[in-house]
Amino acid sequence: MTARILIVDDVPANTRLLEAKLSAEYYQIATAQDGFEALRLANGWQPDLILLDVMMPDMDGYETCRRLKAEAATHHIPVVMVTALGEPSERLRGLESGADDFLTKPVEYDTLLARVKSLVRLKRMLDEWRVRGETARALGLTLEAPGIPSVAGARALVVDDWDLGAQLVQDALAREGVLPGRAAGEAEAMALTAAIPFDLIVLSLSMANDDPLRLASRLRAQDSTHDIPLLLIAEPEQRERILRGFDLGANDWLVRPVDENELRVRARNQIRRKFYQDRLRADLGQALEMALTDPLTGFYNQRYLMRHLRGLMSAGLPNGVSVLMLDVDHFKSVNDRFGHPVGDKALKAVAETLRGRTRVFDSIARYGGEEFVVVMPGASPVDARNAAERLRASVEAMPFQAGPNVMHTITISIGAAYTNKRETTPEQILQAADAAMYRAKAGGRNRVEFAEDFDGKA
Ligand SMILES: [Mg+2]
Repeated sequence: MTARILIVDDVPANTRLLEAKLSAEYYQIATAQDGFEALRLANGWQPDLILLDVMMPDMDGYETCRRLKAEAATHHIPVVMVTALGEPSERLRGLESGADDFLTKPVEYDTLLARVKSLVRLKRMLDEWRVRGETARALGLTLEAPGIPSVAGARALVVDDWDLGAQLVQDALAREGVLPGRAAGEAEAMALTAAIPFDLIVLSLSMANDDPLRLASRLRAQDSTHDIPLLLIAEPEQRERILRGFDLGANDWLVRPVDENELRVRARNQIRRKFYQDRLRADLGQALEMALTDPLTGFYNQRYLMRHLRGLMSAGLPNGVSVLMLDVDHFKSVNDRFGHPVGDKALKAVAETLRGRTRVFDSIARYGGEEFVVVMPGASPVDARNAAERLRASVEAMPFQAGPNVMHTITISIGAAYTNKRETTPEQILQAADAAMYRAKAGGRNRVEFAEDFDGKA
């Protein structure tokens, strides 16, 4: 997986070293020697990751990071702070300025590459959601832009067979407002994650009884836990296991003794990212819903109908498919006499009646203003005619109150068509049903006509 990486360091020798290592892994590299240049390049070049030196003249790494994270154009780009300072307080400052990760000089390259890979993978996924969300927003399909959510109320699962270690992590998380749960082993962790939607899993790599890496791989393999951030805690000498954990999809790690503040900030970053991801996904789901359904009736819209029919018909239904085209009679006069709100109410009432009188595997779409289409897979011409007659009679019998003490009878005209020919297109069968519907109108309305010349016999 190639990606763009921006390296920021005021010492050219440092930059060259990192550049050589990362280029060898086929990453595309740009370099900046100060924070201002970094901001400019981040904006224009849109890297997938920024490696940011902390100690720089004029604007240091913390301030650069803070500005990157404050800008809409760059806030989503992961930042890894690189520093010679190993002090926990410095690490904390970096994380609090919004850095996604932290590396100390001299840089260990396999550690660096593991983190780069993991952050780039995550960014790619978020980018995809973001682009889809932006498309939806551009189409006017979603409501609000995502902000930075609070982590209070998030649920975390701490997996460790060492009581004291687990307690320390749980206490630290609780101070962030996170609700921590505890599992003492693999079986318990699997059972709990199946029951509760966690926002973070903190997994100890030092467990004696179970293999934590096997648990990590099971959590990654399962749909329900696949996207939950996984934070590893390990002994300093367990570097190999940490790297294996990253290969399995872990998102971050900490070494013992755990610095409480660092744990809190890393947990917070992971949970925020999860919330951001959830939010983008929810936006997309909502956009899809809005893109495919008619808000008045809740029925599918024409766009969905065409896709659904195409799918059904190309699957070559052995028993064919019937399509009913329904049109409310004299609908314009309902609007003219009682006003548009009553017209809408009439359409809703008709929709309710249709919904209650069709089979579960039939699909109903609002095709146009007062036109509906019912798609009946596997329904023979006789089934279709019976269904159409039933729908017609139900709507006619439906009591509809158009105003105080004003009852109004609504009727519909229906055209039906059937095909079992694979080469028939959705457009053709809809046209045939439409033509039959016009004959029903011409024949006096409130009646059913069948597209006889089209039912597969012609
Ligand atoms: Mg420096």
